[in-house]
Order: sequence, then C-alpha cells, then structure tokens
Amino acid sequence: MSFDAAALRARFPIFAGRETRLAYLDSGASAQTPDAVLDAVRTFETSRRANVKRGVHALAEAATEAYATARGRVAAYLSAPSEETIFTAGCTAAINLVAHAFGATLGPGDEIVVSDLEHHSNLVPWQMLAARTGATLRFLDVDGEGRIVPAKFAARTKLVALAHVSNVTGAILDVPAIVAEAKAVGARVLLDGAQRAPHGPLDAPGLGVDFYAISGHKTFAPHGVGALWMKAELIEALPPFLGGGEMIARVTREGFVPARGPAKFEAGTPPIGAAIGLGAACAWLAGLDWPAIAAHEMRLTQRLLDGLAAVPGARVLGPKGLQARAPVVSFDLEGAHPHDVCQIMDRFGVALRGGHHCAQPLHARFDLAGSTRASLALYCEDADIDLFFDGLAEAKRVLT
Ligand code: PMP
Repeated sequence: MSFDAAALRARFPIFAGRETRLAYLDSGASAQTPDAVLDAVRTFETSRRANVKRGVHALAEAATEAYATARGRVAAYLSAPSEETIFTAGCTAAINLVAHAFGATLGPGDEIVVSDLEHHSNLVPWQMLAARTGATLRFLDVDGEGRIVPAKFAARTKLVALAHVSNVTGAILDVPAIVAEAKAVGARVLLDGAQRAPHGPLDAPGLGVDFYAISGHKTFAPHGVGALWMKAELIEALPPFLGGGEMIARVTREGFVPARGPAKFEAGTPPIGAAIGLGAACAWLAGLDWPAIAAHEMRLTQRLLDGLAAVPGARVLGPKGLQARAPVVSFDLEGAHPHDVCQIMDRFGVALRGGHHCAQPLHARFDLAGSTRASLALYCEDADIDLFFDGLAEAKRVLT
C-alpha cells in the first residue's frame, strides 16, 4: 500500500469540479463522505430497500443481510464482536442509551466521573441521570494543555465517562491510567470515541473499557447513525432503554421479554441506509494505510501548530506538541471573535468552526466564551494549510 494524498482526496466527490479550493477544516463537526460510502447507500436504496428483520420476502431478506454485514464491518473496525455492537442514531444517542440502561443501576451516593473537557453530549446525559437518580457527578481536572488529569476514584464511583479525544484540544486521553484507576474500584468506563474513530481502526475491547461510542457522520458516513460497543455481559444484564418493535422476544398484555444481543437496544426501525453507509465507511477505512495517513495528518497538524505559534495574539488551547494528540487544533485570536475569524476565513474557502464547540465548561476553564477550531481528516493537504494561514493573516489584519 502506498499513500497518495491527492488520490485519497479524489475519492470524495464534494471536492471535485470546484472553481476554487474547498479547504475543509471542519471534519470534527462532520467529515465528508467518500464514493465508497455513497455507492453503498445508493445500492441499498435502489436495489435492496426494505425494512429489516421481520420481512420474509426476498427484498427484506436482502436488506436484513446488508444490515447484518454493516454491523459486522463496524464491529471489525472497533475490533469487537458483532453481537456486542449496537447501531444508534449517533454518538449522543449512544451515550444517552448508556445513561439510561446503566443509569438504571445507580442511586443516591453513587458517583459518575466526567471531566471539564467533555462535549455536552458526554456531560448533559450524566447531569440528567444525576438529577433522576440522586447520583453525583465528579469532574476530573484539565491541565493547561487541555489534557484530562487522571486521578484516584472512590469506592462509590460506578462509571467513568470521558472523551477518548477532545473535540476542542485534540488531546488523546491517557486510557491505561484511567482504566487502571477505574478497575481498582470496580468502576465501569465509557469512552466517547466520536473524535477518535475518524483517525483509524481501533481496539475498543483491548482498551479495557466497557462502553465505546462513535459517531457515523464524523467517520465519513451519513448523518443519523452511530454505534455503541458494549460488553456482552452488560448487554445481557442491563435493562433496555427505548421500548418498541424489534427490541422484544415476546410481548403479552402483561409485559415483554426483551430481545437478546444488540437488538435489545435497537427499538424501532433503525437508520438502515445510514448504518449500511457506516459499515461501508468502516470497511473502506480498514483497507487504508493508517501509519501513512497518521503521519500525513500529524505533519499538517505540526504546520498548524508552528504557524499559529508565530502569530502574535494567537493561543492554542491544546497540547503544543504532537505527542498523544489528534489533528484538532483550536485557538484564540486575541481581540477577535471566533465567528468573525471564521467568516473572514470562509472567504478564502476555509471551512472552520467558531464558538464553544459544545464544550462550554472547558472554555470557561480557559476563561474564554469560544475559540476557532481547525479539525483535519485524511483528505486534507498542504494547500488547505496554506489557505488557512492566508485567511488567518487577513482575519488578523481586519479584526485585531
Ligand atoms: N462527542 C464528541 C467528542 C463530539 O465531538 C461530538 C460531535 N461534535 C459528539 C460527541 C456528538 O456526536 P453525534 O453528533 O454523533 O451525536
């Protein structure tokens, strides 16, 4: 396998046939979609579209098979068994699922540990759970480089729910340290992998955690889908979250017996086409040369970090170096509002995100209302970074 950035980028139709370059540096919000995914969704919608599981006609069987194949592909990407891989409506939905299913086992005096850098998707569900059950939330500190600081947990700690990769600072969590402390007190660990999954296949079970949530639309797949890996023993033991069709083995007037396996947590008709798209994305990604892509993404990240370090008044919110860092770079430009920075840079064809990035407690920790974020994916090239600095120079000239 040889790595060819331009050939990889050419797989993404959104970049084709433009008069001016689209420097898409907002992949942390939603990544673009390659032809392999679009083709898979189109094939399903045009030749296999039917509801899954219950049908006995040929089309329904083909749809059911395609859905099962997609599950297997997502599971393989996470190095997890299919029987432990649940399709959800997204990463937020996956975390809410755990907050309800695992949350049903919590009560007053129990503790859930999060951190100050969590995306609101991995914070608000736990705040809601605490309000429902009387459990309490504890926050791990974040250091000056935007890294979660591991700590000892208490016997009352039942769950530790943290971002594997911060969507603001790009810091990669010290998972072994967190898992060691959690296991020492028998706490379960959930990782929010929304920002990790787009950067290559991973071994979720091998991390020693109990739950791993990913987002489809950040992993080059359609919107409205995500996945949750959950250990089989937990699938078996935890109560279902949503009730309805497909999640039951049997229903009587008096009650129901839940289905076994992932179906227990997949009430109603799932986002079938989108799930097939996610399966296609995972299969496509699994075949790429990740050491080369990671080196490429990190080289571009280094360019961003070096360039920003040379801009007076620019402050990077994450690690200054590449160690344990993902290609997400947020910064504050002194005296300039992030929205204004984004708007000016948009004129250069540079797509960025400005604001709190659904991480208000983290910005409060840095004494900021918001920041400007560049988030990279495998289709980014040097030309995107060049445009970024052209646009930033203009933003600085106009705004500061
Ligand atoms: N967690 C993190 C770290 C995220 O960046 C995001 C998306 N911004 C989410 C969770 C939410 O994911 P989804 O859009 O799939 O619900």
